[in-house]
Amino acid sequence: MTAIAPEMQARTASSAFDEIPALTAADRCDATTTTIRDGSGSANPRVACGAQAYVTALFPSGNSLLFCAHHGHAFEASLVERGAVIRDDSQVLQQNTKPGASA
Ligand SMILES: [Zn+2]
Repeated sequence: MTAIAPEMQARTASSAFDEIPALTAADRCDATTTTIRDGSGSANPRVACGAQAYVTALFPSGNSLLFCAHHGHAFEASLVERGAVIRDDSQVLQQNTKPGASA
């Protein structure tokens, strides 16, 4: 059986992310009510989510947005629709919540 490491497969598709450093605990979700409603009549455009970011959306323009796992998954379809490439690092959450790993 010839197993290809997932990292090897991902590298081709995520080469655009090479210049973006890995997310840290200091990276926060960029989702705001503006983002959520796409600027259409939001009452509180400055209310940001602010949760720890696990999802990076890189746009063809070179701009990137960070999202928490919740918002990253919620917006993924519309982000991809706008040409963004998604890097989802939220699997670390699964790894950190394995049964028996709880303190
Ligand atoms: Zn969020």
